[in-house]
Amino acid sequence: MKVKRGDFLKGRIFSIEEFSIFDGDGIRTTVFLKGCPLRCAWCHSPEGQKFEMEYLRSPNGCLSCGACLAAGGGRLTAASVDACPRNLVRAAGEDVEPEQLYRRLSRHFDMLNHAGGGVTFSGGEPLAQPEFLYECLCLLRGRTNRGLQTSGYATNAIFSRILGECDLLLFDLKLIDEATHKRYTGVSSEPILDNYHTAAASGKRLLTRIPLIPGVTDTEENVTAICRVMQESNVAYAELLPYNRLAGSKYPLAGRVYDPPFNTEQVPAVRQEIFAAHGIQTKIL
Ligand code: SF4
Repeated sequence: MKVKRGDFLKGRIFSIEEFSIFDGDGIRTTVFLKGCPLRCAWCHSPEGQKFEMEYLRSPNGCLSCGACLAAGGGRLTAASVDACPRNLVRAAGEDVEPEQLYRRLSRHFDMLNHAGGGVTFSGGEPLAQPEFLYECLCLLRGRTNRGLQTSGYATNAIFSRILGECDLLLFDLKLIDEATHKRYTGVSSEPILDNYHTAAASGKRLLTRIPLIPGVTDTEENVTAICRVMQESNVAYAELLPYNRLAGSKYPLAGRVYDPPFNTEQVPAVRQEIFAAHGIQTKIL
């Protein structure tokens, strides 16, 4: 998605997090782009899913005065942010030009570079705003390390163009079986696997990230299939992300219910022995 204001290209982001140590090498600033074509059942960022602007309301300390809804004509809008006497309503979404974002990020280049880090674009799915993402990556070229955290879901043409301007890829592999992938993410796994092989063949630094969702992605069958895909691409390192029970904590803020189709109380299986048997080193994050 691109947002045009006058003659200027704008992208839509919903957060910038500084001093991150989980979004790639070193210390990083992570920019979260709004909107994602996937609907992973375990998504912990509901405010990153829709491309449209959204307004989040925290229930903690709410007076139930109704001022927020009254200001927005019965729903939460930009007017609701100012109307709440407790500052409990905030916008999830901001439209920015690549140059504006660059200026904000550039304040920390020296620190990020000194710490072996850089900037990571995450989401949502950053590949869903390819023109904005491409412009941002080009502006950052030569200034700091440029990371992309992605589901890999895009056409191969879009992915390859973006890949050319990245220094680091954090690529999720979730489910290999097509029907199971569609069931739990809403989309086909085919373009993702195609792009994964492209990423691996590019020679760019690639961190394969595997969310371990109990009874979904952590099964022996799926882990074995992931290992085979990695082997085919000659990738020998993976980072494992066990399911976080706090994944649903933001849903009430977005006025939504978190009710995933798996047992959230079950401890995910960490099948490091299967990775090891395929010659793949693992690290649990
Ligand atoms: S205006 Fe603020 S305090 Fe009043 S109902 Fe809305 S969120 Fe609650």
